[in-house]
Amino acid sequence: MKRTVFAVIALFAALCLAAGCTAKTPLKPADTTAAGNDGIDYLVLVNKLNPLPGDWEQKLETTHMTNSLGDDVEVESKAYNAYLQLKSALAEEGIYVDLDNARRSVAEQEDLAKRFTEKYGEAYVAKYVAVPGYSEHHTGLALDLYLNIDGEDVYHNEDMEQYPEIWAKIHAKLADYGFILRYLEGKEHITGYSYEPWHIRYVDSVDIAKEIMSEGITLEGYLGAVTETDVTVDLGSSEIYSEEDLADAVSQIKCKFASFKGCELHSLKYAGDECVTDENLKWVNEKDEETTYTQVVEFVSDFHSPVEDDGQNAWNIDEEYTDWQWWLARSEDGGWDVVDWGY
Ligand SMILES: [Zn+2]
Repeated sequence: MKRTVFAVIALFAALCLAAGCTAKTPLKPADTTAAGNDGIDYLVLVNKLNPLPGDWEQKLETTHMTNSLGDDVEVESKAYNAYLQLKSALAEEGIYVDLDNARRSVAEQEDLAKRFTEKYGEAYVAKYVAVPGYSEHHTGLALDLYLNIDGEDVYHNEDMEQYPEIWAKIHAKLADYGFILRYLEGKEHITGYSYEPWHIRYVDSVDIAKEIMSEGITLEGYLGAVTETDVTVDLGSSEIYSEEDLADAVSQIKCKFASFKGCELHSLKYAGDECVTDENLKWVNEKDEETTYTQVVEFVSDFHSPVEDDGQNAWNIDEEYTDWQWWLARSEDGGWDVVDWGY
C-alpha cells in the first residue's frame, strides 16, 4: 500500500510543475571541455523554454537502481556513480538520502500527459504536468532526493521541507561531487520552478559546480542564457493575507515570468487590500469555470522587454514596462494560480 501510494504521489509530484534575485553576476560561457565523455553535453540546458536535444536519448547511457521503497529509478551512469559517492559522504555525517526520481523519457511523459488529460482534462494538465520534452528529468542528470530520518523514509515534499538544516548540509556537499542545486529560492523568474531543495543536477565538473554553488547562481545564469537581475519585492502590508500568503503568490508570478523569453524582471509589489473585492473575485471565477476561487490578489511589476528582436515576440523591443498587473486566485484548498496578467 505504502509503495503504491508512494509511486503515485512520486510520479505525480515529479510530473507536476512545482511552484528575487541578487547582485548582477558576471556571466561565464559554457565550458565546452565538460561536454560528454559519453557523447552528451553535461551542461545541457533543459527548461520550460529549452527542450531536450533531439539526439539525446540515443546517446544517453543509464543505470537502473532500486530505492528503499522498491521503486526502479533510472539515472545517467556517470551521474549515478557521483551520486553514490555523495550518498556515502553524507552517510558519514549521519545524513541518509535515497533517490526518488531521476530519468523519465519523453515517451513516458507523453503517455502520462495523455492519461492525465483523459482523467482530469486539458486545463488540469496544462497547469500541473510538464510539457513532454521540456523537463530536466529527461536528461537523466536531474535527481530528486528523499531523506531517511531516524529510520523513516521522508519523501513527501511538504514533509521534506521541514528539514532545512539537513538540506543545507546536503547542499554544502553537492559541488564536491559535480552536482548543483537547480531550483534556487528567489530565482523562480529564471528557472520557472519554485524552490526544490531535493532536485539536484549533475554537471560532471567539480570546478563548474563549485563556481555555480559558491556564486549562488542558476544554470541559466552560468550559461549566459539569461541575465540574473535584482528583483525588488514589496509585500506591503495586508490585513487580509499573511506574509507567507503573499510570498507564495510572488513565487507563482516569478515561475510564470520565466516563460517571458528575454525579459528581465525588476520589481514586484503587492497592489493592496483595496484590490481584494467581490467584483474581482467574480471576475477571476468567470475566467476559470472549473475552479471555485475564494480569494484573489493583485501585484504590479516592472520589467524590461527583450533588447533584441528575435522576430517572434510580442513586446516593444528594449522597453521598460511599468505597473504591469498580475492577478492570482486560489480556492479553499489550493495554491495560488496566476489567472491573468497585462495592462
Ligand atoms: Zn525533480
